Amino acid sequence: MEKQLLQTLDYEHVTLMDSPFLEQFRKMEDVYENLDNDSLLYNFRKRAGKTTPGRPLNGWYGRQSFNFGQFCGALAKIYRQTGKGEVKEKLFYLLEEWGACIEGDGYGFSPQKARYQEYIIAYEYEKLAGGLVDAWEYAGYPKAFFFLEKITDWFIAHSPSRDKNKLYLVEWYTIPENLYRAWWLSKNEKFKNAAERFEYMAFWENFLKEKFQTDKTKHAYSHVNSLCSAAQAYLVKEDEKYLAILKNAYQEITGRHIYSTGGYGPQEDMFGKDGYMGDSLKSAWDNTLTDALVRVRHDAQGSCEVSCCTWAAFKLCRYLMCLTGDARYGAWAEKLLYNGVLSLPPVTKDGKIMYYANYFLDGGIKSNLDRRYHGAPEAYDDLNVTYHYSWQCCTGTYPQAVAEYVNMIYFIRGGDLYVSQYMPSMLKEEVGGTQMTLTCKTRYPEEETVYYCISCESPVERTIYFRIPAWVKESPAVYVNGVKQTVEGRPGEWMPVSKTWRDQDTIMVKIGMPLYFEKIDNKNKDIVSLLYGPVVLVSDDLAAFCEDPDHVEEWIERVPGERLKFRTKPGAMEGIYDFETRDFVPYWSYPEGKWYFLYFWLH
Ligand SMILES: [Zn+2]
Repeated sequence: MEKQLLQTLDYEHVTLMDSPFLEQFRKMEDVYENLDNDSLLYNFRKRAGKTTPGRPLNGWYGRQSFNFGQFCGALAKIYRQTGKGEVKEKLFYLLEEWGACIEGDGYGFSPQKARYQEYIIAYEYEKLAGGLVDAWEYAGYPKAFFFLEKITDWFIAHSPSRDKNKLYLVEWYTIPENLYRAWWLSKNEKFKNAAERFEYMAFWENFLKEKFQTDKTKHAYSHVNSLCSAAQAYLVKEDEKYLAILKNAYQEITGRHIYSTGGYGPQEDMFGKDGYMGDSLKSAWDNTLTDALVRVRHDAQGSCEVSCCTWAAFKLCRYLMCLTGDARYGAWAEKLLYNGVLSLPPVTKDGKIMYYANYFLDGGIKSNLDRRYHGAPEAYDDLNVTYHYSWQCCTGTYPQAVAEYVNMIYFIRGGDLYVSQYMPSMLKEEVGGTQMTLTCKTRYPEEETVYYCISCESPVERTIYFRIPAWVKESPAVYVNGVKQTVEGRPGEWMPVSKTWRDQDTIMVKIGMPLYFEKIDNKNKDIVSLLYGPVVLVSDDLAAFCEDPDHVEEWIERVPGERLKFRTKPGAMEGIYDFETRDFVPYWSYPEGKWYFLYFWLH
């Protein structure tokens, strides 16, 4: 993979330290490591005519075990970063038992063979392929490619159409990424050929046009995820057009199709007409609607399918950062770190997850209740169990997104180190034959200061690059062993700090956080969200502001003595008494079941 300028540490060498991220990781681990094996295998065993101890999981998984591969992939990454033997054992057991249910013709999928082989099998196949490749790459599961070849043979033989652009297969265009990964690891041409067949040029080429355009709106998460397939295609084929697609896609998407949280895809749709992002926040009766809506707003659906969208964007940012070495690609990942996945309530042991985040102007609440199809006859299976409220797709991507944290903090190039995210963590690696440990302590972004401590057996010469967020107003200050350094950090770039590092050296980086508004889109410039550095702030009440939006710091102040809380000065809002004020706190720490407001009108 010579095309990569930066490399990740592949879920190794980095440990999360005390922080909300670690807390979230531990809760996630607890749920997924303790999932009942018999429940996970129930459908596969039933289809294969084997005995089925235990009971199926409730919800979506109980009907179609589509996320089996994703659970396996998450376990592989958890094992890689924690080294827990019992996690590896569980993963191997699940795959052995699943593999024993693969039929003679290679069918290894969910039970409803006849109905699904022409429709949704691509969806399940892609997830199984990902899980198997992860199991091989991160846990060394020896039969991964043996099984992958079997199900690939079946899948290719049964794909209904030879014309890849007309395939009526759900999300078929996400397939190449994992098959190209399989090819890198096995060099089996079968995987490469299959990957090539499912490349999504008809969509990707839109990003090569002078002005991006699609014929109609697209399913949000899976289309962003499909770009990760373009990234793998670039690595394998080294054709520069794929890289141009990726760079332009990042520019287009982050410029026009994301909320201030980094989330995207109102009601799971994206690439609407100018103004659709702003319209997606309005109520159906709002007379400022610009007729750009993707769909009529439906209260059971929300602004962003958080887990799936975060996972896809994390990967895309990672590919772009590795391929280009450009610091700017850490920005979207940073938004989603704090305001996407960290903002979710934990997944419960019975598979309930906050599927949608709501950013509506008339408010939203965080809730693990997925309200989409309750009561609809098609939501009940033959056991009369409704299948939409739990163990949905997002429960497959949630553990992957959380397991990704350790993989997005540090990148390396030769002996040099690139720090992309400021998260409490410990990095232990060998640099030029010497063990070096870098410990990061911080309460960033609640505090502006990030501390690093180095320990090494002998001096290490290397440059440490720090990613400077695009929102900084002035160059961060850097102190090495308490001495201020003459380095300059420009927004969206790397700030290099070079030295021969010795044991007990310290680095302190101080990143000033501005308070600012971000508008939703150019057709709705008067709809804004309030941010402090990377953190989206919410209030528990509506507000329409009438003060100068470009100098927020003059009329919204930090509340002293509170962790991270801001308050408007009296008289800053319309339609309420002058003495009334509004408090703002981080969206990520906002509790479940309580109304919040994340977008506001400027008057
Ligand atoms: Zn989902």
